[in-house]
Amino acid sequence: MKNKLWATSAALAAYVMGTITHVETSEAVAALTFDDGPNPEFTPRVLDLLKKHEAHATFFMIGKAAERYPDLVRKAAEAGNAIGIHSWDHPSFSSITSRERRRQIRACEKAIAPYGCRLFRPPYAHQTVMSRIDTLLLRYKVIMYSVHALDWERHEADWMAQELAKRVKPGSITLLHDSLWNPSVRGAEDRLSMIEGLDMFLSEVRGHFRFVTVPQLLKFGRVQRRNWYVRDHNDW
Ligand SMILES: [Zn+2]
Repeated sequence: MKNKLWATSAALAAYVMGTITHVETSEAVAALTFDDGPNPEFTPRVLDLLKKHEAHATFFMIGKAAERYPDLVRKAAEAGNAIGIHSWDHPSFSSITSRERRRQIRACEKAIAPYGCRLFRPPYAHQTVMSRIDTLLLRYKVIMYSVHALDWERHEADWMAQELAKRVKPGSITLLHDSLWNPSVRGAEDRLSMIEGLDMFLSEVRGHFRFVTVPQLLKFGRVQRRNWYVRDHNDW
């Protein structure tokens, strides 16, 4: 009885406070997401690649960059991609005040208007209970991911393509970066091997998988959530 009560309250907590990681579905659909852009050099290449493979994606943009490159925001949206929020200038949401978190989200919201949807991805994947409450109050869905290919580090294109091919399943949400706000590994800011790896991966799965935006993916099945607080990419 006690265990059942515990399981029920944990499930309820995950439902209310959990962040979305993927969708349970038997349909061959998945979502690609790109953080930290827009970037004048790499975002257009990613957009061309998506067009080539008839795929759509979700871009979690940084407000400061979006304000600087409004044409890229418009182009990404007009090509049928979804635009979400990744803060104004990429602070860790676990180390700033509630007021600053709300300011970060609202400033980014303004920079991507009128193309934004109410999706938020926290910088560095850092969250606390309080930061979750802030996003709930602002009526944002927090979107994390179930797949990545360590693309914020330096890796060969074919290794990244293989990692993606191994991991992507129906309903997956995949983390990628069309820019890196503050690269921790030298050379990682060059997105060309990610783009080449993504091209190889999309060629390989073409005809087997359809890539849709996160808002579309969420309608394909049961949305899966996890209680995900302070956590770094690297612990995943
Ligand atoms: Zn980021």
